[in-house]
Amino acid sequence: MLRLRADWLLPVTAPPLPDGAVLVAAGGRVAAAGPDARVPRPPGVPELALRHAALLPGLVNAHTHLELTGLGGRAEEDDFVAWIGTIRRLKADRTCGEALAAARAGIREGWARGVTTVADTGDSGAALRALAELGGSGVAYHEVFGPDPAQAAESLAGLRRAVAELRPLESARVRLGVSPHAPYSVSGPLYAAVAGLAAEEGLPLAVHVAESAAESALLAHGGGGFGAAWARRGIAPPANGVTPVEWLERHGVLGPRTLCIHAVRVGEEDVARLRRAGAAVAHCPVSNHRHGHGAAPLAALLAAGLRVGVGTDSEVSVGATDLLAEARAARALAGLDARAALALATAGAAAAIGMAGEVGELAGGAWADLLAVAVPPGASAAAVEEAVLAGGPADVVGTWLGGRPVYRRGGVTVP
Ligand SMILES: [Zn+2]
Repeated sequence: MLRLRADWLLPVTAPPLPDGAVLVAAGGRVAAAGPDARVPRPPGVPELALRHAALLPGLVNAHTHLELTGLGGRAEEDDFVAWIGTIRRLKADRTCGEALAAARAGIREGWARGVTTVADTGDSGAALRALAELGGSGVAYHEVFGPDPAQAAESLAGLRRAVAELRPLESARVRLGVSPHAPYSVSGPLYAAVAGLAAEEGLPLAVHVAESAAESALLAHGGGGFGAAWARRGIAPPANGVTPVEWLERHGVLGPRTLCIHAVRVGEEDVARLRRAGAAVAHCPVSNHRHGHGAAPLAALLAAGLRVGVGTDSEVSVGATDLLAEARAARALAGLDARAALALATAGAAAAIGMAGEVGELAGGAWADLLAVAVPPGASAAAVEEAVLAGGPADVVGTWLGGRPVYRRGGVTVP
């Protein structure tokens, strides 16, 4: 067991509490959290006092590509279709061992930046292996590709093999999912088949969707950069006159366990489709901006009651990943207050990836995934939320995962 005490406790789901504490039960879950005077002090339990710091739930990154860690700066194309081609080559050049080492580094980097849970997409299996090996937390959606309908059976068979191989690595903290990559890299029949597999296996599903103009053009009229790339490969355009979200709906991909990554190019009808399906959104404002995709209609997505979390995407897109910077960008986009912005990186993201009540909050019974951030002494409750949101990786004082210290900045003693 462990007891942590700090100048401020930020439950995020409720206003900040001065002089707060969290008691971590032996199994790594929160036994109690609240004002210091009300949180039990069982005899013999070590206590750590964090001065000039706020304690809040560990951050939940709703979209990562951990296997791409270390490749930042290696794909600089402004044209998204060309950029995707470079990413494919960079991935193909990596060995399994390199992908695993990258995923491990990405998880540890996340801990140093306050991220305790990730929702990752990749096709190497590295993220799930690294999460299991390091005792991390998250869901790893295994990607599958295949734009040619004639490839669907073969792609599905490969995904089935990967699922069978990876499922034994699942645990209370690490889950497997599937990810039919994107409408420009997956055929309609493959989408339907993967949706069927997800239902059969009881797996959550993530898909990059409605991200670029080129993707929308491919589904609207078979044109654009992806349309040209498909034509060169002799593959017929997938559809005519549909939006990416509509395309997913037609193939049974949208549901309560579906995470829609990006969702930039979605109109009112698409938002209604997502709402009807109960799908969630991983909002990646910094990546969307970097690639020139525009801004997602975040206010409309939230107003529709959709579960939304922020995600960083990979460092190849955004450079050094910083989830609080994503929360600040989301705030600016949708006119949110500081607490609502922080929620997108904690409780909201947890809900989006199907982990509500487990991570992203400090309620009793949730995993004791905690983040301590330096805040100015004597700050008001409102100023503390602003200070945490304004913080960066350098302000992270310590990070705990299930009560286990996984990162600490110099000068803080962790038992
Ligand atoms: Zn992505």
